[in-house]
Amino acid sequence: MCQRCNYTEMLNDRGIDPTPNRIKIMEVIGNNPAPIAARDILATLKRTDTINRVTVYRILDLLVEKGLIDRLSSGGRRLVYGLSPNENHPPHPHFQCKSCGALQCLQPDSISMNIEDIQRTFAGEIQNVEIRISGICRNCIRSRQAMKHKTDKK
Ligand SMILES: [Zn+2]
Ligand SMILES: [Zn+2]
Ligand SMILES: [Zn+2]
Repeated sequence: MCQRCNYTEMLNDRGIDPTPNRIKIMEVIGNNPAPIAARDILATLKRTDTINRVTVYRILDLLVEKGLIDRLSSGGRRLVYGLSPNENHPPHPHFQCKSCGALQCLQPDSISMNIEDIQRTFAGEIQNVEIRISGICRNCIRSRQAMKHKTDKK
């Protein structure tokens, strides 16, 4: 759990009522080490609460609109959600696996995402920096190796 973000305060700051469901959704997204899909948010909440799909989607739309969370495409129509950069969470690049499509958060300092640096090289107005790096994730590398190992043995 993130000890630094006060979700009640963050919602209040954006003029949104900090209802229990909104806070819980912020917590689920904030606690997940990678961007998370709406159905996984729903599944996590359903372990303890009775909350329906429509409510979850409505809250996600509101949080995106108010700039508290970011909606990222994870290939095809699959959408995932992560906290928007804030004073506790600097902007960071994402890694996407070409094999399974999974998105992962990379360390903020792994590549410069400093808007001012990029702005100096461009005459228009930079508003948002999104960097996606692609390759093969660890799980897929492992399962490839396992498959290879099997065929080698034959
Ligand atoms: Zn936080
Ligand atoms: Zn993968
Ligand atoms: Zn992320």
